[in-house]
Amino acid sequence: MNSHIAIAIDGPAASGKSTLAKHLAERLGLIMVNSGAMYRSITWKALEENLDPSDDKAVTAMLGRIEIRCSSNGIMSTITIDGVDPREQLRSEGVNANVSAISAIPAVREHLIDLQRSYLEHTGVVMEGRDIGSVVFPDTPYKIYVTADESVRAKRRGDDGEVDSIAKRDAADSQRKTAPLKISEGAVILDNSEHTIESGLEAALEILKAQGLEF
Ligand code: C5P
Repeated sequence: MNSHIAIAIDGPAASGKSTLAKHLAERLGLIMVNSGAMYRSITWKALEENLDPSDDKAVTAMLGRIEIRCSSNGIMSTITIDGVDPREQLRSEGVNANVSAISAIPAVREHLIDLQRSYLEHTGVVMEGRDIGSVVFPDTPYKIYVTADESVRAKRRGDDGEVDSIAKRDAADSQRKTAPLKISEGAVILDNSEHTIESGLEAALEILKAQGLEF
């Protein structure tokens, strides 16, 4: 297997993308990159600085002042901003409520897409997000669009104890001008509503095999 491949996992909020991507990365010996965590980290920083998340200019100016470092620890991607790892803050109500506005800003996307692509200089990735198959790695043959019934997805977030309006986020993420959430060309849909972790992983491996992945 080519070790610098990209497997793109896209889909709406709480569809089980992260869990699937993590298990795929483990099985295939790749790094799991959570691109949502990158958008959440920028959102966290903007809120720390008391910026209005819909103020494109202020958020774009912030990007010029901060240092974002992406790396990995074991099989998982990591991110620091100005040396701080914001991981514990990324699923707060404030970040959940504002991340879609921040991620609709074109300069934010450009900045993060470069960082996302640069992982391939060092390693192969299973990257999950909204635009991985459509924009970040449009040429990869390995693309899965993970979805699940809205009630299943809402329950998942509730069970996690999170305050997160996933329907609102999905609407914003699908309707934005730049890199909206969509089923990218070549992606195969995996409906995760009824899957266990194991059966979802097996279904994904079948799709990847049919897309030509050797493992
Ligand atoms: O995947 P997660 O739900 O953590 O993503 C948080 C938010 O980050 C999404 O609702 C979306 O606004 C944004 N995002 C994005 N593009 C990606 C990944 C996430 O716009 N590739």
